[in-house]
Amino acid sequence: MKRFQVWLYLALSLAASFGEGATLFASQYFSIEKVAEGVYAAIGKPGVFSNGAFIVTEDGVIVVDTHLRPSWARDLISEIKKTTPQPIRYVINTHWHNDHTQGGQAYVESFPKNVEFISQHSTRDDILHLAIPSVKQSLETDVPETIQRLQGALNTGKSPDGSALTEEGRVQIQAQLDSQKAYLEELKTMTIVVPNMTFDRSLILHKYDKEVRILYLGLGHTRGDIVVFLPREKVLISGDLLTGGPPFMRDAFPSKWATTLEQVGKLDFTKVIPGHGPVEDGKDHLQAEVRYLGDLVTAVTEQVKKGASLEDTQKAVADQLVPRYEKEYGANFKNAIPGNVARSYQEAKGELKE
Ligand SMILES: [Zn+2]
Repeated sequence: MKRFQVWLYLALSLAASFGEGATLFASQYFSIEKVAEGVYAAIGKPGVFSNGAFIVTEDGVIVVDTHLRPSWARDLISEIKKTTPQPIRYVINTHWHNDHTQGGQAYVESFPKNVEFISQHSTRDDILHLAIPSVKQSLETDVPETIQRLQGALNTGKSPDGSALTEEGRVQIQAQLDSQKAYLEELKTMTIVVPNMTFDRSLILHKYDKEVRILYLGLGHTRGDIVVFLPREKVLISGDLLTGGPPFMRDAFPSKWATTLEQVGKLDFTKVIPGHGPVEDGKDHLQAEVRYLGDLVTAVTEQVKKGASLEDTQKAVADQLVPRYEKEYGANFKNAIPGNVARSYQEAKGELKE
């Protein structure tokens, strides 16, 4: 049984707080979950997908990751303000991907000149050279194409597979269309915030009541992923080094990712706030992911040594690994395999640049 308490917070707003693990309150875009004293997960609701976290200290708030849209970040800021009168002092970017960085400007608007953006050195470079150009790509190509596709489905009454749209399907597509149009408007005025405080291996914020360790433990999901570790509270905020689903590898270093996760696994934590998906208990998922990444790299390397084509490798590795990992990762797993194999294939051929 979970014990819970409710109390009046000494602020103008009223905030209800439940015991660890329970949803504290739900904003429009996030479920806010208290995972330890002063440590909160902001779990993205369907359609938002990516998570964030915030840490309340006696000397300001630290936010981890800023989501895809400034409007979502603004929503989280208003939830943080209901939790504490403390200002937000630091924003940490776990890596450069746009679903973790594009909301940054909301923090600058709310706390001008008082908020520092922290990342690993490589992530700052990647924000400059990959995240910023990707806004233009989204604005000019990706989002208009999505809007056109959704509008086309509504106009023809047919879903992409050619089947007739049900009334429920029509409502869903209309909602997606409205959301994409709103996103397009946001992209027009989007300013990506470039981290102004970077580090190589570790940066520790020594607060009066909290120690916040920001750690770079090696290549992984990207070349600059960091984790945020709270040793007293035994909480790990993992970014996309750990997510609820199969690992996303477009920019990954598969064999190094396993080694990096092994290092992460040596930290003493009991709760994980992952980059996507629900809060996790313990290290079971981390250990399964280390095993999967190891098996993936071994299986792909074997095929590359035999001179197999990418296509043959994708098929052989899927035959081998889908039965073994489908239970861990769910039905979506087989859709992730081709991309995971393609990236591992490049790595096994020595084609990945760090
Ligand atoms: Zn990512």
